[in-house]
Amino acid sequence: MSDLSRPSGPKIIAIANQKGGVGKTTTTINLAAALVEQKQRVLVIDLDPQGNASTGLGIELDDREFTTYELLLEDIDLDQVIMTTETEGLHIVAATVDLSSADMELIANEKRSFLLHDALRQTQMDSYAFDYILIDCPPSLNLLTVNAMIAAHSVLVPLQSEFFALEGLSQLMLTIREVRQSGNKDLRIEGILLTMYDQRNNLSQQVEQDARSNLGELVYRTVIPRNVRVSEAPSYAMPVLSYDSGSKGAKAYRDLAKEVLANSAV
Ligand code: ADP
Ligand code: MG
Repeated sequence: MSDLSRPSGPKIIAIANQKGGVGKTTTTINLAAALVEQKQRVLVIDLDPQGNASTGLGIELDDREFTTYELLLEDIDLDQVIMTTETEGLHIVAATVDLSSADMELIANEKRSFLLHDALRQTQMDSYAFDYILIDCPPSLNLLTVNAMIAAHSVLVPLQSEFFALEGLSQLMLTIREVRQSGNKDLRIEGILLTMYDQRNNLSQQVEQDARSNLGELVYRTVIPRNVRVSEAPSYAMPVLSYDSGSKGAKAYRDLAKEVLANSAV
């Protein structure tokens, strides 16, 4: 069931926020799984040298022979870097710590910001017929994140529902504006997602109010609750949708996927 409004290939979304621990990787894994439940074909690109998305989707370190590093820096067949996961319809390009040297290695490369863009637009990609590509960015506004933003149609920003959540957002917006000027003029903000929301905590409610009044329509109606099943799932190497399908976390990510699909249709 591909989206007829998007005949020209997959929709590419970068999941970015330069703060660590805000739910980027968790959102990448679980939004991907929830989109797959909605019959979408999804590719996750692990662009963080920590490789947490790869681990969380069950890709063992020993099996990461060809990774995002090779996709960006070596002329290698997509067949070799795109791996299947336990979740049917969900594929991944895994990452290892090798990726941490990419910034340095690319300094002299004129096309350094466009490597992911070009890699994802190889014609071989068509045979996979992906509907969505989700890029899990590192916790930094470095060259890897810029590659993600140049390659993407839009940026999804997870915000942890805690004090200082909105701090740092202006820096992120500045980077998005720079990317628009330097090669991806149509880059959109896909949406802003409140994560680790605690209903009983006044602070969460206040962050939500602030976010909605400052950022309006950009903020998803869905908020992701703090839910222990969500944090347990990666150690079982699966999305929370498989680990505990009925959990609050799984339900929230299903709601998010429906919002993302509805936004893509317009
Ligand atoms: P990032 O990729 O932005 O660094 P992660 O997705 O790795 O952030 O999340 C940071 C930590 O918070 C992880 O230990 C993760 O399991 C946990 N976490 C993320 N979302 C939730 C949630 N909704 N409920 C409980 N724990 C969560
Ligand atoms: Mg992460």
